[in-house]
Amino acid sequence: MTTLNPHYDKLAAGYLFPEIARRAREFQSKNPGVELLPLGIGNTTEPLTPAVIRGLHAGVEKLARPETYSGYGDYEGDIRLRESISALYRERGVDIGTDEIFVSDGAKPDSGNIQSIFGVNNVVAVQDPAYPVYVDTNVIAGRTGPMNPGTRKYRRMIYMPCVESNGFFPDLPDRKAGLIYLCSPNNPTGTVATHDQLSRFVRFANENRSVLIFDAAYSAFIRDPALPRSIYEIQGAKSCAIEIHSFSKTAGFTGVRLGWCIVPKSLIAGDSGPGRANTLWFRRQSTFFNGASNIAQEGGIAALSPQGREECRGLVDYYMENARIIRETLSKMGLTVYGGMHAPYLWLKTPRKMKSWDFFDKLLGETHVIGTPGLGFGPSGEGFIRLSAFGHREDIRKAALCIEKNLKL
Ligand SMILES: *Cc1c(COP(=O)(O)O)cnc(C)c1O
Repeated sequence: MTTLNPHYDKLAAGYLFPEIARRAREFQSKNPGVELLPLGIGNTTEPLTPAVIRGLHAGVEKLARPETYSGYGDYEGDIRLRESISALYRERGVDIGTDEIFVSDGAKPDSGNIQSIFGVNNVVAVQDPAYPVYVDTNVIAGRTGPMNPGTRKYRRMIYMPCVESNGFFPDLPDRKAGLIYLCSPNNPTGTVATHDQLSRFVRFANENRSVLIFDAAYSAFIRDPALPRSIYEIQGAKSCAIEIHSFSKTAGFTGVRLGWCIVPKSLIAGDSGPGRANTLWFRRQSTFFNGASNIAQEGGIAALSPQGREECRGLVDYYMENARIIRETLSKMGLTVYGGMHAPYLWLKTPRKMKSWDFFDKLLGETHVIGTPGLGFGPSGEGFIRLSAFGHREDIRKAALCIEKNLKL
């Protein structure tokens, strides 16, 4: 008799986005003809840039001729792309070898799959609130135990609250953790970690021989050049940190699919010496994955060309102007809003301590704007709502105006 993986039953029932969609549908059916203004989803809206489009076209053309056709490529990615990525790190004073770079089909798969090279007994620490993938993939792998229905926390997982009083960057875990997930600039809070904040975690991880999984998907949104864009800008990080990165938010590759993961050769996990984690990740990828699309990789190489990078900076600037518009509107109204300075997300504190879902309904009802309830990202997200700056400018303006005119405070 077959049995299914019982850990799936422990998941918090794919609750957030389906529930948002259900409430939006219900509102729409009661208010036909009303235009809903979604600021909820972290999906890019602006077209790929000309340099990237040329790169993708060139990739397609190569496949049309026997002299340039290619089938399977290297599991770890096209060497030209890995060299471009390595050069990107060199600009920040960080030395990453091409054999430490693993090109992938995106940061979500990497951040979900990376746990598979670690033992099932590791205790996992996550920021609270967090991008749900870190939690859910460890639930499925059997690391977390069941959810405590009262607190809505998994029994074996360490939750590191990211709240107003700590500037939305967590204090060190209160006990040893095998794996520690950090994301900066952060989804959902839109805040960014400083050099000092990250240094504390790097020191902690090295002292305890634990591993940091650092999600840098939004590093291109950092405006202040003094803030760290990579965990490897922190001294000591190469012996304790894995970094995950993506072309999705930086270059608009959400549908194209391309990312990378850095597993340093010098990484030490527990009692396994340098090189082992790098070898295991290669083994994992070559077993489960046959390499990123060669067309997508041509697009990625173009995105990292000087022209491509300049154009992608334009894309990021566009979304950051959206963030400024939303932020300014909310601040002007006297609301308390965090994030949106170095990230495409705003973390709005609900007025009068309203619950996330109550404020979601109020925002929808009064302004027709759809946000994402903070509670959906973890218990410490209660009392906040995430607004996304991804959207066409006219839609962002319309949403900002509707909030300004119609939200009753
Ligand atoms: C959007 C997002 C990703 C997504 O990455 P893909 O490369 O599109 O898979 C990863 N991490 C965070 C925190 C994100 O918000």
